[in-house]
Amino acid sequence: MPLDVRQGPLLIEVKGGTVDKAEMKRRVCAEIDRRADLLIQVGQDIYHDPELGFKEHRTAKIAAEVLQSLDLSVQTGLAVTGVKTVVDCGSAGPTVAVLGELDSLLVPDHPAANPETGAAHCCGHNAQIATMLGAAVGLVGSGVLPSLSGRVAFFAVPAEEYVEIEYRNELRRQGVIEFLGGKSELIARGAFDDVDMAMMVHGASAQSLKGKAGVSASNNGFVGKQARFIGKAAHAGGAPDKGINALYAAHVALAAINAQRETFRDEDAIRVHPIITRGGDLVNVIPSDVRLESYVRGKTIEGIESASQKVDRALRAGALALGAKVEITTLPGYLPLINNRAMADAFKGNFLEFYPESEWEETGHRSGSTDMGDIAHIMPALHPYVGGFKGTAHGADWGIEDPEMAYILPAKLMAMTVIDLLADGATLAKEILDRDKPPMTKDEYLAFMRRIAREEVFDGASEE
Ligand SMILES: [Zn+2]
Ligand SMILES: [Zn+2]
Repeated sequence: MPLDVRQGPLLIEVKGGTVDKAEMKRRVCAEIDRRADLLIQVGQDIYHDPELGFKEHRTAKIAAEVLQSLDLSVQTGLAVTGVKTVVDCGSAGPTVAVLGELDSLLVPDHPAANPETGAAHCCGHNAQIATMLGAAVGLVGSGVLPSLSGRVAFFAVPAEEYVEIEYRNELRRQGVIEFLGGKSELIARGAFDDVDMAMMVHGASAQSLKGKAGVSASNNGFVGKQARFIGKAAHAGGAPDKGINALYAAHVALAAINAQRETFRDEDAIRVHPIITRGGDLVNVIPSDVRLESYVRGKTIEGIESASQKVDRALRAGALALGAKVEITTLPGYLPLINNRAMADAFKGNFLEFYPESEWEETGHRSGSTDMGDIAHIMPALHPYVGGFKGTAHGADWGIEDPEMAYILPAKLMAMTVIDLLADGATLAKEILDRDKPPMTKDEYLAFMRRIAREEVFDGASEE
């Protein structure tokens, strides 16, 4: 596959600081257009070979090869599969990171699913890698970087989807990772220590976005919850009185969780959506090992913690009612996302170079979650949506509708936004960093995440 992006002549060298922002943006967009076929090919290649989080070895290799073909030196294997390069513009200033997520989902009935693993790119992250690389191709290949101040990091990041919890817990036990989400793990390993602000673009279809692009004010965060009800097996027909029914304990717990719903405040946007992952083993045996999994999502950390305590209470209630035991595990998930307004305004301004205002959508609060929320808690961050996709996110009908919009436009918009941030001595980036202090330091963030992780055993029988 021709991954070398040096083919053809570079555009005219920009003499330090003499070219205005509009001209820089024009050159960057021209360079991205010149390499559009390659970028679409990279996006499609990844689409047809999806890999789940912390396993994205081939996808990471593609990202590294494209960056290396720009004569950039890359770091690989960050939080297992992350790939990063930092380009110095030559004069002092903040570091802006452009991110792309490497991982896919598990949707076996998707037409492009991997027949062996069932992995499929039903969240559009394949486009994110193409657009991150597109921003690199544009900014590096056009020669505008010497006119900017600071540094630009291009960063392919692992494991955004919070899935395969059992597998990741095993990696955690082996000490390979500490956190189940890619960006949390990268933060813990210091991979964001040299980054001051970060941006990415997430794909969207008409089902979630009315216009062609937009940004939310915020997104929900969540904690992960696992519960294992331990009862006592007995003959279901001959001696049910000798057993303790763990399935009924879970059933009571689910009813108790549902009874909490009217106490969830609208403004906290709580979402609790438990599933039973093990419901019993044989129909003539009283179930003695029943497992339940859930997220507890909310708009604020306080809201999530309050709902999480109610869920714990409900889980204990199930165990208490039946005299069963319950092991409750709470896992750190993702923090709520807060999009930086000034970065969003710059991004929107660039979008308006291509489309009218009516195609831009301010989507308010969204109840889905992303680990970009974790980044947003320690630095100004931007996570807008751009269309180009069709169907249901995380569904079997998800796909690319408009390759130009999915793969090329976001690359231009991110590169143009980097120019806004770092031009004129990085005036805008410095203003944002001075004014918009993130809610936490890295150390406070890690302490918070480590405090969330806990295990509890409640014995309903001992309460009798
Ligand atoms: Zn997703
Ligand atoms: Zn996604």
